[in-house]
Amino acid sequence: MNNIYLDASATTPPNIEVINRIKYIQSECWGNPSSIHNVGIIARDILERSRLLIANKLKADPYDILFTSGATESNSLAINGICNKIDKGRIVISSVEHSSINIIASMLQDQGWEIIYWPVDRYGIINLDLMNELLSPPTKLVSIIWGQSEIGSVQPINIIGEACQQKNIIFHTDATQILPSGLIDWGSINVDLLSASAHKLQGPKGIGLLMMRKHIKELLISGNSNSSHQSSIRPGTESVPLIAGFATAISLLNEYIVVEDHETHFPVNKVSEMTLCLKDKLLNNKQLTFIGPHNNRLPNNLSFLCHTDSMMPIKGREIVRELSRKNVYVSSGSACSSSNKGPNPTLVSIDVDKSLQESGLRISIGPWIDHDQINDISNRIKESLYNLQLQKS
Ligand code: PMP
Repeated sequence: MNNIYLDASATTPPNIEVINRIKYIQSECWGNPSSIHNVGIIARDILERSRLLIANKLKADPYDILFTSGATESNSLAINGICNKIDKGRIVISSVEHSSINIIASMLQDQGWEIIYWPVDRYGIINLDLMNELLSPPTKLVSIIWGQSEIGSVQPINIIGEACQQKNIIFHTDATQILPSGLIDWGSINVDLLSASAHKLQGPKGIGLLMMRKHIKELLISGNSNSSHQSSIRPGTESVPLIAGFATAISLLNEYIVVEDHETHFPVNKVSEMTLCLKDKLLNNKQLTFIGPHNNRLPNNLSFLCHTDSMMPIKGREIVRELSRKNVYVSSGSACSSSNKGPNPTLVSIDVDKSLQESGLRISIGPWIDHDQINDISNRIKESLYNLQLQKS
C-alpha cells in the first residue's frame, strides 16, 4: 500500500529544489556571514540575497524580516520582546492559540501581566462583538492566530489590526498555517508583527521568520548595546543554508492571498480543490462529524470528530494509529501538543461535547497528493473507522 501523507499542518516534505539548494550552500558556501574575509562575504551575500528574495515575495522591506529557528521562537521573540520593553498591562490572546503562545502567556501572567482569552464561537472564529471591550485600557498587546492549526478557522485579522492601530495597541499574528496556502502582501495587512515557519511550506526545519514594522523593530532594539547579528534582537550566527532553503521554498509560491476586513481569500488551486473533494466524500461518513467553519477556513485543512454510528467516541489517537497501519498519516491535533493526553483545549474552546473532546481528527493536504488518490484516502479512512467501531461493539 502506498504512503499517503495528510499531515501538512505538522510538517511537510522538503521540496527537492530546497534540498539541492541547502546541499550546495552547505558544501560550497559554508562561511560565517559575519566574517569580513571572502569566505564570509560569500555567505553574507547569499544570506542577503535570500532575505531580499523573501522580502520581494512578501512585498516587504528586507529589514522587516528577522530570521529565527521557527515559529515557536518567532512567537516568543515577539511577545516576550515587546513585554520586556513596555509597562505591564493586559495581553489579549485568542482561546485557540498554538501552545507556544499559551506557554508564553502563562509565564507572563506569573510575572504580573493580565492575560485575557478572547473567546471563539462554535466554529472557532473569535467573537467580534467583544472587540471594544477587549481592546480598551489596560490592553497593550494582542496576539491572534491567523489560521488555526487544528480546526482550520481563519480569523478576521485585518479588522482587529485596524482597531488595535487606532488604539495604539501592538498587534501580533501567528501566520504559520497561512503562508503555505498563499503569499502575504505585508503592505496590505494591519499587523505589527507576524510569525511564520519554513517547514510548513516544504522548506527546511529549524528556520522561520518574524516580520515587524520599523517602529516595532526600533522598540525591540532600543537600549541594546550590541548591534551585530540581526540587530541584536536575535544574536548568534545565522544559518545561511537554512535561510537559503527557506528562500527557495518561498520562491516556489506564486499565488497571493487577499485580505479583506473580515475575510482572507485564498487562491483556488489543486490543493484547495482536492481538500473540498475529500470533504464531500467524508461528509457522507456517519462516523465523522465535521468541525470548524465551512467558510473562513484554511483551504488545506479538514477537521472532524470520530465516533461510532451511535455516537460512541473514538479517540483521535486510535484513528491516527489505525490509519498509520494503512500507511495514511494524519493527526489528532497539533503535533506540538501530541504528548498531552486528555481533552484537546481547542475542542474545549469550541464547546465540543465533553465525551468527544479527545476525538479530533485533522487532515491537512499538500501538493504532493494527487486527485486520483482522494477515493483511496476516503476508503482507507472509512475502513479504519469501521474497524474501530467493530472493536467497540
Ligand atoms: N504556530 C502554529 C500555528 C503552528 O502550527 C506551529 C507548528 N505546529 C507553530 C507555531 C510552531 O512552529 P515551529 O515548529 O516552526 O516552531
